[in-house]
Amino acid sequence: MGLKCAIDGPSGAGKSTIAKTLAQKIGFIYVDTGALYRAIGLYALRKGVITDIPEQVVPLLDEIKLDLRHENNVQRVFLNGEDVSDLIRTQEISMAASDVSAFAEVRQFLIDLQREIAANNDVIMDGRDIGTVILPDAEVKVFLTASPEERARRRFEELKARSRDVEYEKVLSDINRRDYNDSHREISPLRKADDAIELDSTGMEVGEVVDRVEELIDAARRREFKTIPAWRRVPYALLRGLAALVFGIIFDVRYEGRENLPKSGSVILAGNHRTWFDPVLIAIRVKYISSYMAKSELFEIPVLRTIIKIVHAFPTRRNSADVSSLSVAEEYIRKGYNLTIFPEGTRSRDGKIGRARSGVAVIASRCGVPVYPVGIAYKGHLRFRRRITVRFGEPISPEELKIASMSKTDLRAAGDRIMAKIAKLVETDV
Ligand code: C5P
Repeated sequence: MGLKCAIDGPSGAGKSTIAKTLAQKIGFIYVDTGALYRAIGLYALRKGVITDIPEQVVPLLDEIKLDLRHENNVQRVFLNGEDVSDLIRTQEISMAASDVSAFAEVRQFLIDLQREIAANNDVIMDGRDIGTVILPDAEVKVFLTASPEERARRRFEELKARSRDVEYEKVLSDINRRDYNDSHREISPLRKADDAIELDSTGMEVGEVVDRVEELIDAARRREFKTIPAWRRVPYALLRGLAALVFGIIFDVRYEGRENLPKSGSVILAGNHRTWFDPVLIAIRVKYISSYMAKSELFEIPVLRTIIKIVHAFPTRRNSADVSSLSVAEEYIRKGYNLTIFPEGTRSRDGKIGRARSGVAVIASRCGVPVYPVGIAYKGHLRFRRRITVRFGEPISPEELKIASMSKTDLRAAGDRIMAKIAKLVETDV
C-alpha cells in the first residue's frame, strides 16, 4: 500500500505542474487523470460525434481501451494501443474532455483504472474528483485554486509556448466555461473535499506550492508512524545488557557521543562496517528496537537465519538495487523500529571509508526521518581486549539531507554527505 496524495482544482490552477515536479522530487508516480478524459474526448471527435450528447458518446466506450504507462515517471496515455499523450493537449480537446466528463458512464468507465494505479504505488493524482470520489481515503488532499485571470494567463503562456494559434480572451472564456461545466455537472462535480487543504496559488511561485504540498506529505507520513510499546523493550533491554556484558569481557569497548543517541524510534542508524558484530555494538547503546538490513547470504545459513530473523534482520541482495528490501526497511520505520544500516554495503577490513550505495538516501528521503551517523574504530587486528571505540555523531535532519530528486546524482550526493559525517567520527582513530 502506498501513500496517496490527491490534488483537485479547476483548470489551470497549476495542478499538473505541481504534481509532476513534486512526484519527480520525492519518487512518487504522477497520475494525470485529465489525460483519460481527454483521450475519450479525442476518440469522440475522431468519430465525428457531438461531444455533449451522451447518446452519441456513451456507446463509443465499448470501442475504447485506455492504458496509462509510466516511463521514468513521465505518464503516457494509450488509446487502443496508440500513444496519444501529445495529441490531446489542444483547446478543442480540452472542451471535448470537459463535455464527456459530465456523463456518469464515462466517469464510471475510468474509476477502476484510476484506483488500480493508486492501490500499489505512492501516487500524486490530479483531477477534479480525486479527493471526493476516486480516492476518498487519500492521506493528503489538496484543493488548488487561483483566480480565473491568473489561470487563463498560465494556460495562455503554456499554449503559446507550443506555438499554437491562441488568444488570451478565448482562453479565459474557455476556462470560465469549463469551470462552470465542471462545478455544475450532476455527477462528481468539482468541489473541495471536506478534509482537503485549500491552497490559493495566485501570485505564488511553483517552488513555494511544491514545498507546501511536500510538507503536507511529510506530515502525513509521520502521522502514520506507529510507536512500539515500552513493555516490548524490556526483553530487548535484557538482551542488550547480556550483549554488553559478553562484548565488554572480550573487548575493551568505549562509547562516545551519548548526547547524540536517538530519543525515539523510527530513525536510521548508519555506520561504517568494521566487524561482523557492529550491529550488536550499536544496539547495546540504543534503547529503541532496531531492524537490520543484512546481506542475503546470511539467510542461507540455517541456525543463523533463525537468530537474525528474531532480531528483525531482513535480507538485501548486495549487487543490485534491491527495491523490495527498501520497502521492507520503510515498513519497519513506519512501525516504529529504527533501521541500522551499513551504507557501504560491505565490511572494510582496513577501516577506510568507501562510498555509500543509494539505499540509505532512498529510505531517508522516502520516510523523511533523520540519519544518525555512527563511527566504529579500532587499531590493528581484532584480538582479546582490543579497544574498540563506538562514536555516535549528531543526527542529520531530513532538511539537512534534503534530496532534490530521486536521480542517481542527488542520491549519490546525499550518500556522500552521510559517509563524510561517518568518516569524521573515525578520523581520530580510537
Ligand atoms: O485536467 P485537464 O484540464 O487535463 O482535464 C480535462 C477535463 O477533464 C477537465 O476540464 C474536466 O472536465 C475533466 N476531468 C474530470 N475529472 C478529472 C480530471 C479531468 O472531470 N478527474
